[in-house]
Amino acid sequence: MALEPANNIQDLQYFGEFGGVNPSISDSSTYTFLSAKTMFDTFEGNADGCYLYSRHTTPSNLYLGEALAAMEGTETANVSASGMGAITPVLLQLCDANDHIVSSRTIYGGTYAFLKNFTPRFNIKTSFVDITKLDAVEAAITENTKVLYCESVSNPLLEIADIKGLADIAKKHDLKLVVDNTFSPLSISPAILGADIVIHSLTKFINGSSDTVGGVVCGTQEFINDLRNVNNGACMLLGSTMDSLRASSILKNLRTLHIRMQKHSKNAMFLAEKFENDGLKTVYPGLKSHPSHNLFKSMMNKQYGFGGMLTIDAGSLEKANELMEMMQDKNLGYLAVSLGFYKTLFSAPGSSTSSEIPEEEQKVMGLSDGLIRFSIGLDADIKRTYQMMKECMVKIGILHLNQIEKECN
Ligand SMILES: *Cc1c(COP(=O)(O)O)cnc(C)c1O
Repeated sequence: MALEPANNIQDLQYFGEFGGVNPSISDSSTYTFLSAKTMFDTFEGNADGCYLYSRHTTPSNLYLGEALAAMEGTETANVSASGMGAITPVLLQLCDANDHIVSSRTIYGGTYAFLKNFTPRFNIKTSFVDITKLDAVEAAITENTKVLYCESVSNPLLEIADIKGLADIAKKHDLKLVVDNTFSPLSISPAILGADIVIHSLTKFINGSSDTVGGVVCGTQEFINDLRNVNNGACMLLGSTMDSLRASSILKNLRTLHIRMQKHSKNAMFLAEKFENDGLKTVYPGLKSHPSHNLFKSMMNKQYGFGGMLTIDAGSLEKANELMEMMQDKNLGYLAVSLGFYKTLFSAPGSSTSSEIPEEEQKVMGLSDGLIRFSIGLDADIKRTYQMMKECMVKIGILHLNQIEKECN
């Protein structure tokens, strides 16, 4: 169904109350009921289409949620105030005290910190595994395991999860497979491949303008109802609801996601091939040298490419910092965390977004000091960008002119 996820988004129509081409924004925290009976029924969860209170949901949030559910091919979705505001209630909804989670060890730093430092307070334990090794994943499952957690394309190492393989394991052991698809919207459709729940940080590619944080949980109507249940729903009770004004602005940006992803992917592919040719240690799922290149190819919706994220190794943190500062001086991008912006963003994950992960563990997972994570922007002239980046790399000595001359001859 979601083989053309962008069509699924485009085919939805929402009009404003006066025929506006964009839906009207619901500018209310609370809603009137014509009868007391309907209000009672709504509290009991039995009044479909009735709005109660904006922490529960709003018409604007529903429009955005339905568009994202159409993109992922799930029954419905619930939007939240941030990506972490989507991830944390999902895990707390699925796990009781004494339950266990098997998670990829290369995940977003905030998610890692939540599982490592926060959920143990509720005696929810997590085993972190190499998600690319299905036997290691299965071996970590215990009788208390409830959730298998991973990112389709992992942060920051760009490891690829075999979603079909993981879904088979999840089914066999009666677990929920939860996939964070933030790095690969449109390119990969985890629910179509067997994931039970798909999460995004909308902050990144989906919104794309680095002006807000936001998140979404895509899943079955039953699970989303559970999350929003007034008596025991983690979204409702923890309160990480998105504001309607934000939902309406993100929906407008979602309209151009397919074009942006194609350009991010095209630019990233161009740079990755050049960097690798120049002899830089480059990781990009679109490169044949990527250990999971074929796996990504087998899962992807081809027209959106391999995504906008790539990494290079500058050799040391000092060189990485020097290069990033120089590139920023030349206006090639910004030294900033986050991703999915029109401008290229770069950071050294070991000392920033993944600094929650202890140094020894960073080493084990292959997260080196000199690693630079790039979110490649929508540059109109990527050849010029490459030339200018190369000049920076030669200047700080991580690329040598003779290497490049060899390539040119
Ligand atoms: C940014 C990010 C998150 C967290 O999202 P926020 O919107 O910052 O709360 C979760 N997962 C991944 C993969 C991310 O990149």
